[in-house]
Amino acid sequence: MDETTDLLVRPCAHCGRPVAQKPGAGRPFRYCQDNDGACIKEARNSRQRQRHAPGLPGQVARTWEMVERMEQLATRSPKR
Ligand SMILES: [Zn+2]
Repeated sequence: MDETTDLLVRPCAHCGRPVAQKPGAGRPFRYCQDNDGACIKEARNSRQRQRHAPGLPGQVARTWEMVERMEQLATRSPKR
């Protein structure tokens, strides 16, 4: 075992609490895993609301969606 990623932690994209990552799980967890996906739902809801907002909030929401889509593509494709 030469992996040092066992205790990798990322802040939740919604509330900022540290979220433990599972190395090798493929997709990183962006939100808390211990509250039944409440942060995921909340983030999604507020993004959907902001999406139709004019100006910057809508733009930010759409940018986040793009970032998540790109992340999914990146983690799905093989590393080589
Ligand atoms: Zn959270």
